[in-house]
Amino acid sequence: MSEFSLQLNEDQIQLQKWIHDFAENEIRPVAHEWDEREEFPYPVVERAAEIGLYGWEFIAEGMMNDPTGLTMPVAIEELFWGDAGIGMAIMGTALAAAGIAASGTSEQVMEWVPQCYGTADKIALGAFAASEPDAGSDVGGYRTSAKYDEAKDEWVLNGTKAWITNGGIADIHVVVAVVDPELGSKGHASFIVPPDTPGLSMGQKYKKHGIRASHTAEVVLDDVRVPGRCLLGSKEKLDERLAKVRRGEKGNAQAAMQTFEATRPAVGAQALGIARAALEYSIEYAKERHAFGKPIIMNQAIAFMLADMATEVEASRNLIWRAAWLGKQRAFKNAEGSMAKMKAGRTATWVTERAIQILGGYGYTREYPVERWHRDAKIHDIFEGTEQIQQLVISRAISGLRIE
Ligand SMILES: Cc1cc2nc3c(=O)[nH]c(=O)nc-3n(C[C@H](O)[C@H](O)[C@H](O)COP(=O)(O)OP(=O)(O)OC[C@H]3O[C@@H](n4cnc5c(N)ncnc54)[C@H](O)[C@@H]3O)c2cc1C
Repeated sequence: MSEFSLQLNEDQIQLQKWIHDFAENEIRPVAHEWDEREEFPYPVVERAAEIGLYGWEFIAEGMMNDPTGLTMPVAIEELFWGDAGIGMAIMGTALAAAGIAASGTSEQVMEWVPQCYGTADKIALGAFAASEPDAGSDVGGYRTSAKYDEAKDEWVLNGTKAWITNGGIADIHVVVAVVDPELGSKGHASFIVPPDTPGLSMGQKYKKHGIRASHTAEVVLDDVRVPGRCLLGSKEKLDERLAKVRRGEKGNAQAAMQTFEATRPAVGAQALGIARAALEYSIEYAKERHAFGKPIIMNQAIAFMLADMATEVEASRNLIWRAAWLGKQRAFKNAEGSMAKMKAGRTATWVTERAIQILGGYGYTREYPVERWHRDAKIHDIFEGTEQIQQLVISRAISGLRIE
C-alpha cells in the first residue's frame, strides 16, 4: 500500500504540464465558440485522440498503472481548467468505460472499452445510460426493462433513458435495465448495445444551462435486441445474484460502496478545474481593474474574497487527492469520495459566482469567460449524485444508520 503524499511524482508532473499545454493552446481558444454552438466539438476530441489524450490506453494507463490514485484527478483538473464542456466531451466516454469495468468480465472490458474510444484515425464515443425521465437519484424507480429470449439467447431492451452524455451519438451504449422489477435497485443489470443496433435512437437533445459543448440527450430503446454475451458479467453470475437477493441474503455493501465512491473524486476534479480557472482569472483581473484610483484588489473586500476562494480551492483539492488515494487502496471509511465531490461542486459554484462579482458588469457578459464557468460549475451539484444524495451517503456512512 503506497503512503498518501501530496507530492506528485515525475510522471505526474510531466502529464500535468502536457495536459495544461493542450488545455491552454487547443481548448481555451475555442471554448467560447463551442459553448455558443452547443455542439459536440469533434475536431477538438479528434486532436486529443491524435496526441493520445483521448483513448482507452490513456484511461487504462491513468487508472491502472498508478498506485497513488492521483494521476486521474490531476489530469482532469487541467482538462476542465481549459473548458468544462469540451472537457466533458473528452471524458464522457470514460463513464461508459467505468460502467463496463464495474460490471463486466475482464474479457468484456478488453472487447468493449477499446471500441468505446475507436482509434486516433476514427474516434468512437461511449455513453453510460442509467437515468430515466422519472428516476434520476431514485435508481429503484428505473423502468427500462431487459427480458431474456432464451430461444435466441438474446436480451430485449425497452424504455427511455434521460440526460445521457453522448446519448444517441455514441457508438457503444452501456444501458442499465431492470431484469426483475420485484427487486427494486437490486434487480438491475447492465448491457452493451453495440454500434448500429436497430431500435436504439436519440430522443430529444437537451438545450442546457452549462457544459454546452457536451452532448446530452434522451436514448430511446424500442425492442432493442442484443446477443446474450452483451449482458455485463455473465448470465450465471446474474442468476446467482438475483437468487441470493430473493432469499433475502445481504450483498457485500462494503464492496459496492468502495466502487461507487471511487469514481467521485474524478467528478470533483472536474469542478476543481473550473474553480481554479475562475480564481486565477479573478486575481489577475482584480490587479488590473482600477476603481477610485487604485486596483480593486487593494480593497480588503475584494482581496479577502479572493483569499476565501483560494482557501476553498485548496481544501477541495486536498479532499479530492486524499479520496482518490483512498479509492486506490479501497480504503474508504466515511464516504470520503462523496465528501470530495460535494465539496468541490459547491466550491466551483460558489467561486465562479464570486468571480462574476469581482468582474462586476463585465463578469455578467459573455465577453468574459466567468459567466460560462459559473454555468458550467453548477452541473457538479447535480450529476453523478446530487448534493443531497452525497449528504445522504455521507450521513449514512458516519452514523451507520439508514437515514432517509
Ligand atoms: C448535463 C447532464 C449530464 C448527465 N449525464 C448522465 C449520464 O451520462 N448518464 C446518466 O445515467 N445520467 C446522467 N445525468 C443524469 C443525472 O445523473 C441526474 O440528473 C441526477 O442523478 C439527478 O437526478 P434527477 O435529475 O432525476 O433529480 P431528482 O432525483 O428528481 O432530484 C431532484 C431534487 O430532489 C433531491 N432529492 C432526491 N431524492 C432525495 C432524497 N432522498 N433526499 C433529499 N433530497 C433528494 C435532489 O437532490 C434534487 O435536488 C446527467 C444529467 C445532466 C443534467
